Amino acid sequence: MNIELASDTDELRELYKELILDHARKPRHFGSLTNVTHSADGINPLCGDKLHLYLQLDDGVVQDAAFEGSGCAISVASASLMTDSIIGKTSTEALQWSDQVTTKLTSGNAEPDLDLGKLVALLGVRQFPSRVKCATLAWRALRAAVEQQPSPASTE
Ligand code: ZN
Repeated sequence: MNIELASDTDELRELYKELILDHARKPRHFGSLTNVTHSADGINPLCGDKLHLYLQLDDGVVQDAAFEGSGCAISVASASLMTDSIIGKTSTEALQWSDQVTTKLTSGNAEPDLDLGKLVALLGVRQFPSRVKCATLAWRALRAAVEQQPSPASTE
């Protein structure tokens, strides 16, 4: 067993945990938006997480994103990381990330095919199966908003 490698992994895990806690305590892009072009509600009945996602899309590019709602630390951190990451990206890229994060969280396959950047922190939630839906909620809402689905995105 390689001790150094093990401690690196621990350190990384600690870093991810801190990133999640930081976003939960100080959510980025929390609030409403003006000039909303797309929006969706997301609900996670299992935990009671609720959010409303606002997007400003222009020519297929996410100009701005924000969310409101209430939920547990993981759902808030996930929505904060999500909105933070998709601004400036095309809606196609944003949906690829959505697919990637939800698939990785639900399948248990750890290796992302895309460069997820700091979103990799969210994949640590896999260790807590009962919280996976908290982490995927914002990403389901993102898809619902971009695709203008009429009903709220639910994790159930
Ligand atoms: Zn939750």
